[in-house]
Amino acid sequence: MAHKTKIQKLRQRQRIETWYPRASDLVLPDVPANERAEVRKILGWLGKFPVHAGTCWQTAQTVASFTQDRRVKYVEGASWNVKQIGAGKYLPLFQHDGECSSDVCACKPLPHAWSLVNGHVVDLLAEFYSWRFGSEYLYLHEPLKVYSAEDLLRVGGVPGNFSLLQKVWMEEHLDRDPENMAAICQHVFKEASESLIREAAVLKSQRKRI
Ligand SMILES: [Zn+2]
Repeated sequence: MAHKTKIQKLRQRQRIETWYPRASDLVLPDVPANERAEVRKILGWLGKFPVHAGTCWQTAQTVASFTQDRRVKYVEGASWNVKQIGAGKYLPLFQHDGECSSDVCACKPLPHAWSLVNGHVVDLLAEFYSWRFGSEYLYLHEPLKVYSAEDLLRVGGVPGNFSLLQKVWMEEHLDRDPENMAAICQHVFKEASESLIREAAVLKSQRKRI
């Protein structure tokens, strides 16, 4: 069939595991409209850079190390994938019918890494997700630590797809049991996750007034 419907195209996209976005492909929902052009200019080198699904740490670390632009930073913190259900009302995008029984679950804020470009959140993994699934996504972000490219060099560059805060915590606590990894990650980012939940409650009431 020569003509593909939009739905067929989106279905094909869902299977894609690696994305090579150009700066013009980015939606930049966290950048004010009048500053998007500048952010796209700073990220103008994008196009052959692979964004692999599930590699937020490595992707954002590489972006900050690679750009050699002081306006691009690496951030670790927590993010929460939510959807707007009405004026000023937000719910987790992923929800259950009953109680959530897992600590590591997309219904809650999760440890995450993204980029800060000219002071604005640019989340390539969230952009990728949105592109794949064609959803109008909304992610709330709570930073815990911001690294410059020099900071990344000091901590040894890009160690792989791994949280630097978690790496430091494990070195300090000498805990390298692979079975504890997910729990340690949750623990390291607990503060950011909790303040995101508090912040979301504030956002809800603030946005009601808009
Ligand atoms: Zn859950």
